[in-house]
Amino acid sequence: MTHAAAQDRDLPVISHFIDGRPVASSRPPFENRDPATGRVATLVHEADPGVVDQAVAAARRALRGPWSAFTDAQRAAALRRIADGIRARFDDFLAAEVRDTGKPAELAGHLDIPRGAANFDVFADQIAATATESFRTPTPDGSGALNYGLRTPRGVIAVICPWNLPLLLMTWKVAPALAFGNTVVVKPSEDTPSTTTLLAEVIREAGVPDGVFNVVHGFGPDSAGQYLSEHPGVDAITFTGETRTGTAIMKAAAEGVRPVSFELGGKNAGIVFADCDLDAAAAGIARSAFLNSGQVCLGTERVYVERPVFDAFLARLKAAAEALTPGAPHDAATRFGPLISAQHRDKVLGYYRRAREDGAQVVTGGGVPELPEALAGGYWVQPTIWTGLPETSAVIGEEIFGPCCHLAPFDREEEAVERANASPYGLATTIWTRDLTRAHRVAAAIEVGVAWVNCWFLRDLRTAFGGAKQSGIGREGGVHGLEFYTELRNVCIKL
Ligand code: NAD
Repeated sequence: MTHAAAQDRDLPVISHFIDGRPVASSRPPFENRDPATGRVATLVHEADPGVVDQAVAAARRALRGPWSAFTDAQRAAALRRIADGIRARFDDFLAAEVRDTGKPAELAGHLDIPRGAANFDVFADQIAATATESFRTPTPDGSGALNYGLRTPRGVIAVICPWNLPLLLMTWKVAPALAFGNTVVVKPSEDTPSTTTLLAEVIREAGVPDGVFNVVHGFGPDSAGQYLSEHPGVDAITFTGETRTGTAIMKAAAEGVRPVSFELGGKNAGIVFADCDLDAAAAGIARSAFLNSGQVCLGTERVYVERPVFDAFLARLKAAAEALTPGAPHDAATRFGPLISAQHRDKVLGYYRRAREDGAQVVTGGGVPELPEALAGGYWVQPTIWTGLPETSAVIGEEIFGPCCHLAPFDREEEAVERANASPYGLATTIWTRDLTRAHRVAAAIEVGVAWVNCWFLRDLRTAFGGAKQSGIGREGGVHGLEFYTELRNVCIKL
């Protein structure tokens, strides 16, 4: 990404959004490229510290302004209007998301955009369903006391987001933040700025007061991300992204002892038992490894397959990988997209090289696909499957975040569990078996925040979501977000 002069260029310019209006900044806009073609697609303003100050100040004013007078029912109604607003502008959101990510419109159209709207609906429901505890407490004089919990908004929340599922992951945090009465300053990824700015328009049109939802654009270090996470006016930080970035943000949050909610990286294992429905397992693991070109935190990059079905499973997975070919994102038949950036493509290709150096058998892929002329400048890699790597290889140990996985055979359930758990990460797993008892046993033994059995990425938004070990801190979703998005006060009244 390079900085660019915006003049004389017929490109959309993406601005910050502060206190209900678009805001420019003193720094020159930077170029954002369409990953499918490599061509510059938008120019994006980059926040300087003054812009972040403005955004945080607007959020602070709004916290004390008319937003604080919204009743639960009024906030729920506002969230539903936002959900409807996203659906009403579905085509705009779809075009923006596809332009920023290069992902197939078919995928964004059935996953990213509908989930963006659904996130607001589910937290509108949550407002109505939220109760607090109360206790009648005996006292020596016999009159007793009433204790009850009172939840108040946490305050000004910084929302720092990644690029892989931009609208989906950002709204997953913004919706509960607003549901429980907070105000936000959102910092989308520098690679995917567009849908956040579009959402600002929708939120304004939904009648949410100015300053409740603010957007600042830019990069991480020495840019919007760092300025926002270090800003003393921010009361709490919710972040989705790499574990390494989470470490930097946590250090910033230590100043002022501010709470964090983190959804971080993963190196997820799939376990395929010989008694499973092999076709379903191969289809499920293929989806989990290759959907969104492997750029899903919940994706499977390590697959352990019980030895008797190893070859049959591998053949099915190989066929599924080889059916995925690059295509123009808006072509209705396209099911496979590029990686997000040249930098990320180079990182993924580095692991492809490393796998060969470490002695992997490349079952399929391993490089850059043949591309039609129109896509030749894009950031494409082949779906790739390896076997034969030692568990000590960096390809097995580190998150790659590309369309690739390694398959290894196992002989005993305990061995599969042990290998799955041999990771500093603990985000998700997918287990394939027809043995219900074993399914429960293995789901309980794997050290993760999310365990799927005979499925993957099947989400009920009321359930807890988050990672164990270095994959996160805290749980979001349904009632679980209350811990982070509200402050719980106990009121004790002597009767
Ligand atoms: P990233 O950590 O590079 O960037 C995420 C965001 O943090 C961006 O907006 C970036 O500008 C900002 N940032 C970077 N450095 C910063 C700093 N020092 N201070 C403040 N902000 C900073 O992550 P990414 O490459 O955008 O996303 C991919 C990663 O996200 C993968 O590791 C993936 O597993 C993870 N992820 C996790 C989940 C989950 O739910 N656990 C979901 C999606 C993605």
